[in-house]
Amino acid sequence: MSNPFENAMMQLKRATAVQPFPEAFMKQISSPNREVRISIPVMMDNGTLQVFEGYRVEHNNARGPYKGGIRFHHDTDINEVKALAFWMALKCAVANIPMGGGKGGVTVDPKTLSKTELEKLSRGWARGMADILGPKKDVPAPDVNTTPEIMSWMNDEYMKISGETTLATFTGKPLDKGGSEGRGAATGLGGYYVFDALRSKYNIAEGASVVIQGFGNVGGNAAEIFLAHGYKIIAMSDSKGGVVNEAGLDIKALEEWKKSNGALAGFPGSRTVTNAELLELPCDVLIPAALENQITATNAGSVKAKFILELANGPITPEADEALYERGIPVVPDILANSGGVTVSTFEWEQNLKGEHWTEADVNAKMKEILDMESGIIYDKSVAVNTDLRRAAFIVALERIAKAMGY
Ligand code: NAD
Repeated sequence: MSNPFENAMMQLKRATAVQPFPEAFMKQISSPNREVRISIPVMMDNGTLQVFEGYRVEHNNARGPYKGGIRFHHDTDINEVKALAFWMALKCAVANIPMGGGKGGVTVDPKTLSKTELEKLSRGWARGMADILGPKKDVPAPDVNTTPEIMSWMNDEYMKISGETTLATFTGKPLDKGGSEGRGAATGLGGYYVFDALRSKYNIAEGASVVIQGFGNVGGNAAEIFLAHGYKIIAMSDSKGGVVNEAGLDIKALEEWKKSNGALAGFPGSRTVTNAELLELPCDVLIPAALENQITATNAGSVKAKFILELANGPITPEADEALYERGIPVVPDILANSGGVTVSTFEWEQNLKGEHWTEADVNAKMKEILDMESGIIYDKSVAVNTDLRRAAFIVALERIAKAMGY
């Protein structure tokens, strides 16, 4: 599998070939400010001790405290976390929120842990990282396989260690523990706002057909939101594979089916597909919302979608980007498309710092205002420098970070 950090650096190279930046800035932005690795010992339910490897990468904080999620996944390693931290720095700059970029993770398959073990691991991560965290230093959030409950365990552990009573060190917490209205659905809803702001520029009509890879927080919410706005979700998948129904899937019923059957396969009225086949289905809009490196040089030529909205981080490799660009398939890059999540996380941090609680309508309206504006700025940049939306988004973000760093 290709190294996500090398891919991220290739993206940086492609973007800065279109618009160059000072050499000294390029050197600084190409490596993280800090990489931390910790061992997290967990006494398992069967009485044996297991040691897990945990990470936090702090890429850049020129625009504000490091910000970014924590991923629990068996394939997570330092290179993945480094790439994700770099993308977070750019993403926060794209959304123009006062945050830098960081990311965390643990190499673990959380499905193999009991709830007690999961809580011990989560608290262990917060304990091991406590020195570098804090509302003015580094503010983590959920990512793949981490939940509001995990954030509340981590925040609680951090408060015990630091003696601080602030709730503002972790975002994505449950509502009754300092969470923000609208955070759960923010990435999916923000993705919809970005899509809606850009679709007419690429002749994508309302009610178009949509294929979504991933049925977690992001994919699941996106499916419901697109459906509620009149779009037809013709295929969905999770890690075990997907289902297709060209007449449109009933997402609520599919969720129920997945809950009772443990997989999507067999959903009435649908046919089963692999994740590889799903990416090649004819459709108007393809939404990768699972993991990185899904569309590569190998399958980019077979993608039949007319438009791609990257809600996952890094689902398209740079080689595939090139191939899709040549084929005229527009891609809304992750650092714009999924920036609603970190935007509302930042609102949560702000509410915690001020002791406020905003309504869901307020949160969504503020997010929409930001995403509409930034989508327009990035589209205009892509036209001005005659490139794709990814390179345009990189250039806008790099300009903002470079300015904050005094270049
Ligand atoms: P999640 O853990 O809630 O869901 C992940 C989904 O992906 C699950 O349905 C899982 O079955 C599926 N999946 C895993 N491996 C797969 C594979 N090989 N093929 C197909 N599906 C697979 O995670 P999430 O929070 O929904 O995150 C999904 C993506 O969105 C990640 O790339 C994440 O970094 C990105 N993202 C998340 C947020 C957020 O707010 N949660 C914000 C921005 C970006």
